[in-house]
Amino acid sequence: MNILISNDDGYQAPGIVALYEALRDLGRVEVVAPEQNNSAKSNALTLHSPLYVHQAANGFRYVNGTPADCVHIALTGLLDYRPDLVVSGINNGANMGDDTIYSGTVGAAMEGYLMGIPAIAFSQTERGWKHLDAAAARARALVESLIQQQRVGMGAPWLLNVNIPCLPADQLKSLKVCRLGRRHAAERVITQASPRGETMYWIGSAGAAKDDADGTDFHATMQGHVALTPLQVDLTDHDNLSAWSDFKWALPVT
Ligand code: MN
Repeated sequence: MNILISNDDGYQAPGIVALYEALRDLGRVEVVAPEQNNSAKSNALTLHSPLYVHQAANGFRYVNGTPADCVHIALTGLLDYRPDLVVSGINNGANMGDDTIYSGTVGAAMEGYLMGIPAIAFSQTERGWKHLDAAAARARALVESLIQQQRVGMGAPWLLNVNIPCLPADQLKSLKVCRLGRRHAAERVITQASPRGETMYWIGSAGAAKDDADGTDFHATMQGHVALTPLQVDLTDHDNLSAWSDFKWALPVT
């Protein structure tokens, strides 16, 4: 079993160290991760500057790029083998509902998925690494179970988004398969004066959950469950495809 690990918090983040330690005896397990924090970089690729790969004393390789860069170059030339599984995380904070669009943690996993490899994104639901050991143990159990049931290394690739509540192991509840919830629009942008009198803008926090009904990731994690959502990448609005086809365009349409 060959497992590639990446993240968006950077190669020194406690979450990726814990994930590596939890998975390392499952096979050949390697880390290729961003040098700096790349949270909210989604699927961004670096096209207009060179990427460099360096190796840390613990064997982790780090890249001056985005999460998707890391997985992309790992799979297209850096590694001399094809991983069976790409695992991203464990992220410092939730990636639920609309967060998944912006998430670099999901972006790294999605890059593996787009390259035809099964992939999982793991996140803790709160920032601060509380009970990280319990989250890593759950991640390990989940990966092990997928391997045992032969869902890794054969068949069509899949993409799983997993959010783990920050609870001690004995309080973490069972795995729940959920749909993504929705968030309210984000908080207001924050402005400050720079030392040179210019206005600086800071992107505000994500909004509170708007749809956290039973069956969503928000609901499951609030109840202490580990939330798992299978993701797809097709952005087509299938529900409205025929409505747009029937629209009376004032221009030629085929
Ligand atoms: Mn992050």
